[in-house]
Amino acid sequence: MLVDTGTEKFLWEYGINVENWGKPIQPEINFDGVFVSHAHLDHSGLLPQLYRQGYEGMFYCEPATLDLLSILLRDSLKLQKRECGNLDYFMDDVKHLERNTSFLKTGETQDFTLSNVSFHNAGHIPGSASTLLESRGKRVLFTGDIKFQGTQLMNGADTDFENIDVLISESTYSYTNHPDRKGIENALKKTVQETVYGGGVCLIPAFSVGRTQELLLILSDLGVPIYIDGMGVRATEAILRHPGSIKDYRRLSTAFSHAHKVTRGSERERIIEKPCAIITTAGMLNGGPIVSYISKLYDRQDCSLVMTGFQVPGTAGRNLLDTGKFVNGEIDVKPRMRMEFLDFSAHTDHDHLIEFYRKVRPKKIILVHGEKTEAFAEELKGMGFDAYAPKNGETLKIV
Ligand SMILES: [Zn+2]
Ligand SMILES: [Zn+2]
Repeated sequence: MLVDTGTEKFLWEYGINVENWGKPIQPEINFDGVFVSHAHLDHSGLLPQLYRQGYEGMFYCEPATLDLLSILLRDSLKLQKRECGNLDYFMDDVKHLERNTSFLKTGETQDFTLSNVSFHNAGHIPGSASTLLESRGKRVLFTGDIKFQGTQLMNGADTDFENIDVLISESTYSYTNHPDRKGIENALKKTVQETVYGGGVCLIPAFSVGRTQELLLILSDLGVPIYIDGMGVRATEAILRHPGSIKDYRRLSTAFSHAHKVTRGSERERIIEKPCAIITTAGMLNGGPIVSYISKLYDRQDCSLVMTGFQVPGTAGRNLLDTGKFVNGEIDVKPRMRMEFLDFSAHTDHDHLIEFYRKVRPKKIILVHGEKTEAFAEELKGMGFDAYAPKNGETLKIV
């Protein structure tokens, strides 16, 4: 999104579609600041390209966001080199971005000529922030990816906002509600215990940022051996460098110190000889250590595989859920291991979004970051809200 106050221009988010390398509309490089709500690449994955194209200004984010983004952008660059012919940016541009970063912690405000911008806890992943812009007497709040209910890892999002003229709201799960969190936490614990006590290995593919740490906290008091493999190790180390970005630093620090970290691929053969739980990337089974674990364990009925997040159509994870077959590169198998899907979402849902709108009472709601935004706008209008779902590239005037 490009926000133009008449005096300043700000870019809010500049991501990529991580499944197909889809890119946003390219803005003219004449803005006064770039703000990013959190480190996930759908919000930040193309930032270095701005510097490649001549942007010399500042990039504003929460301190934990830069630490996590540095890991994710380097990994994304490696993937791009492997999968795409032409690169959108190079390592020099990542370093340029890092040098031009200005930190804005949640609760802090950055002043510009005419406007000011403040960050507020969004409860989504460590470092995630909602962005409030005040300019010419108008108050525009962008939720970013948001979760209102606290989890094991995060405190719930801030909801104390008044006199909001425009609320730009994420709407990922605007069409449904998540299952009871305690219920799925217990289901995960039960599967892990049954698998490990039955002599098997429980594989838990997970995103490295946020989900890995959440699962580690849920499983930490079970007393079973837990391994973390892949990028989740470095992501957890980065999060622990920012104690204020999570609910309980001490708990995560203890759980992480008790977990075994896999540092070399050659260790994997030995690990799976004994019963254990393994939290590893990639969350949608598209690559990473999880592929090698599945290829070794798929035929063992005493083992299990628990998918813990939304599986995007076209990914190996979605294909496995839909067809029961795991296909990745040269591997094409029908696993006999126990398989489960548990929805540990880091986003809020239909009922909690509406509860938030009823509390904040914004004059206008703009719906973004969702698949069914038009239908949700219609539903909100029926409740008396002024809601709108814009198309990509559309300009809206705030009067
Ligand atoms: Zn996100
Ligand atoms: Zn997102």
